Amino acid sequence: RQAAFRTDLSVLLDQVGAGKESLSFMKRRIRRLAQQWATAANRLDAKLEQRWRDQKKILVHVGFLTEESGDVFSPKVLKGGPLGEMVQWADILTALHVLGHNLKISMSVKELQGFLGVPPGRGSCPLTGPLPFDLIYTDYHGMQQMKQHMGLSLRKHKCHIRVIDTFGTEPAYNHEEYATLHGYRTNWGYWNLNARQYMTMFPHTPDNSFMGFVSEELNETEKRSIQQNKVNNMAVVYGKEASMWKLQGKDGFLQILHKYMEVHGTVYYETQRPPEVPAFVKNHGLLPQHELQQLLRKAKLFIGFGFPYEGPAPLEAIANGCIFLQPKFHPPHSSLNHEFFRGKPTSREVSSQHPYAEQYIGRPHVMTVDYNNSQEFDSAIREIMRTKVEPYLPYEYTCEGMLERVHAYIQHQDFCALEPPFIPANLSRQGSAGGGRITGPLFVHLRNSTALGWASNVTAPPAWPPLSSLRLLVSQEGQSCVEACYSDGFICEPALFHFINNKEALRRLEVQCDVVDSEINHILPAFSVLRRECGLQREPLLFSCAGHSPKYRRLCPCRDFRRGQVALCRDCL
Ligand code: UDP
Repeated sequence: RQAAFRTDLSVLLDQVGAGKESLSFMKRRIRRLAQQWATAANRLDAKLEQRWRDQKKILVHVGFLTEESGDVFSPKVLKGGPLGEMVQWADILTALHVLGHNLKISMSVKELQGFLGVPPGRGSCPLTGPLPFDLIYTDYHGMQQMKQHMGLSLRKHKCHIRVIDTFGTEPAYNHEEYATLHGYRTNWGYWNLNARQYMTMFPHTPDNSFMGFVSEELNETEKRSIQQNKVNNMAVVYGKEASMWKLQGKDGFLQILHKYMEVHGTVYYETQRPPEVPAFVKNHGLLPQHELQQLLRKAKLFIGFGFPYEGPAPLEAIANGCIFLQPKFHPPHSSLNHEFFRGKPTSREVSSQHPYAEQYIGRPHVMTVDYNNSQEFDSAIREIMRTKVEPYLPYEYTCEGMLERVHAYIQHQDFCALEPPFIPANLSRQGSAGGGRITGPLFVHLRNSTALGWASNVTAPPAWPPLSSLRLLVSQEGQSCVEACYSDGFICEPALFHFINNKEALRRLEVQCDVVDSEINHILPAFSVLRRECGLQREPLLFSCAGHSPKYRRLCPCRDFRRGQVALCRDCL
């Protein structure tokens, strides 16, 4: 069946259910943004020009909100607890509904069993028939629950699953055997999915798919009125929980800030002002989302203290015309050195409180500075008061941008069609020829897919993103493909590793190999210049944009991307 855009959200609102603060929060959000979604649906509808879109049967199982997982989030909705995940789930549900798919929503194990047709009760027989859904969106909690209640059949139906995973999962952590053998095993990872089945909140690592969420959009009249009503010396602090204000050295920079500006906060409190919040701060208490937006419309500065990491609020602030000031992390925070990230299935280095804001938005909307350097901090505040900025929202965080991206994923990403692990043909030792230095071109532009002689030994290559978007590039030693592609203005595309994991690619790059081995290692394909050793990847699940190693230069499949929509290449729609 053909999917038709929906602009009426009442059926969705009924489906979400009631009885918990988390659900009420999500419904308030869905209602508040309804008009914006409707406008976006009409625009995307026109843009796609009657293109056929399959209507999919989709199950959304929100694991972290089930009682069975302990649901620690719901009771904290009105108490300063994390809201980012609820923001994202509300938006995912809305996007799927608006795109016209056939949606079922489950927030308990009982509902999950009902929808899957699994008889209730623990240890019950697994799902035997075909999966009654084309796609299942869930999270790590939900995966665990499905494993418990679907048993072995989960493995069979795995390719239909998408895991909403805020901070991302890198391939090395996802591959059970590899993770176990090489110290990448965590409490979360090792589901042996294709890493693109994990969908993140921000475009962290291109190994995963970027799902995102939306932020409020303003029309021209609103933008103008915001700019007229900005209060140049008004700052709002990012941090709705008192503990976020417990920060070493905080008093120093807060004093500087207070020297120039009136400082506002939205910190949750029960009866008394939290002692962590200095007396000069005007604390509004935790605000409903629309009231926070109103506050942000007046404020000039939204200032982060370093926590929470990578939340939605800075995008909302920037969309409402604030400048976001945040601390640079030196050294970067990661699962290796910071409690918060410890045990998360990624070794991504987080260079500031909000690397997306830093790297994808930047000045004048975002300033990332060293908070320990009071001079630098002082001059940043003064610069912010002088600088005029317009409200700004990257296209990928608008409703239309999210609909466009989710539409493309649903119509094009197919992890069931991928072939079983393949072994590249003709992997024999290769005699050396010429000197050890790489003299050839380390950047090959492959516009014409027929020029890809080497693609012939790969069976059933993924058809999306199209091969026309591929640029083959070589990283520096120690550099990941994420960085290598990014520094040339491209993005690493794991789906295209298939096409560059072969001797022909090495030959084209004029890499000198005494040996070409095929191994299981997440930094491959790669080569060592010094040892003249080249390695190809034997396990497709380990194709990794994130991997890097000091002695190896990597072969990187980069692709172009649309302005403001990094998830999609130019010909990807
Ligand atoms: N928020 C809110 N009231 C407040 C402060 C924040 O409703 O007083 C909302 C905000 O609009 C954002 C959400 O909380 O959409 C999550 O924000 P944050 O960036 O703090 O991320 P979290 O750590 O909660 O996931």
